[in-house]
Amino acid sequence: MDIDGLDGNGGEQVGASLSMQKLRFLHHTHPTTPITQHPIIPYKRLMWLAILLSALAMTAIVGVRYLIVSGAFAAATRARHPGLYRGLDAQMRREIWWSIASAAIYGIPAGIVAWGWQNRGWTQIYTDVHAYPLWYLPVSVLAFLVAHDTWFYWTHRWMHRPKPFKLAHAVHHASRPPTAWAAMAFHPIEAITGAVIIPLLVFLIPIHVGSLGLVLTIMTVMGVTNHMGWEVFPRFMWRGALGGWLITASHHQRHHEQYGCNYGLYFRFWDRLCGTDKGLGDFTKSHAKAAARVASAVDSGGRAGVADAGSSSPRHAA
Ligand SMILES: [Zn+2]
Ligand SMILES: [Zn+2]
Repeated sequence: MDIDGLDGNGGEQVGASLSMQKLRFLHHTHPTTPITQHPIIPYKRLMWLAILLSALAMTAIVGVRYLIVSGAFAAATRARHPGLYRGLDAQMRREIWWSIASAAIYGIPAGIVAWGWQNRGWTQIYTDVHAYPLWYLPVSVLAFLVAHDTWFYWTHRWMHRPKPFKLAHAVHHASRPPTAWAAMAFHPIEAITGAVIIPLLVFLIPIHVGSLGLVLTIMTVMGVTNHMGWEVFPRFMWRGALGGWLITASHHQRHHEQYGCNYGLYFRFWDRLCGTDKGLGDFTKSHAKAAARVASAVDSGGRAGVADAGSSSPRHAA
């Protein structure tokens, strides 16, 4: 019999439940009768239920977080560059569905590890801010970002090999040009590679729960803004000395245009070291295409597009 009792053996489960009632009665009338002496089926079942609920809760958190952050930046795009996503409705719907599916995949390892952290003392996540020196707080955030970036660079490069690309990564590159909704638009295989890294790192690198929240926030915001089609960050973050090492939308835009370059996530270190950094992308082409889509909508009678066409001012990154 399956130890968790979820083997579909109804007779055994009913029997277990009946004897559990008897045991509870015994425990009630004779408190010295240890309830844990009963076969562990109900407890195991409860444990799996708790893990399942934790995974579902994490899925909901990741999914809602994606919808809020992508929705907010999509709204910012409509305000800043009206018309930029004009004519991309079908693509954006696809991006949202792939992203929701990815949220479910992200929720599973996160939910299991969150349950283990709360109930089994797993992970190196700590809640007492003084458990490590204060200088360690920013260091741990940086360590997570560097480790995640390294993992992303190499798995991303691998996914650009012909077979994995065709099998999985093509889903992400079907977004041409990507929008703020493309942040988690991954094939399930790619989603798994992204979903396991933070749950693995919390076992290896001690991190305060607040710092972990910051890492997840940076991860979410950069995932969205890198695909937004325009540069939301101040110029010093993508130009000059600091910009030479950081990745923002201008850098990732080139990856979506040329494929075989600019593989990194947060930092340009690996791209520069491995000769795959081809510099910043140029939003001119995608903004001109957006303006053309708006113009054709106007031609076909969409008078509402006039205002969009006038205010869609391409902003060049390079
Ligand atoms: Zn991308
Ligand atoms: Zn790629």
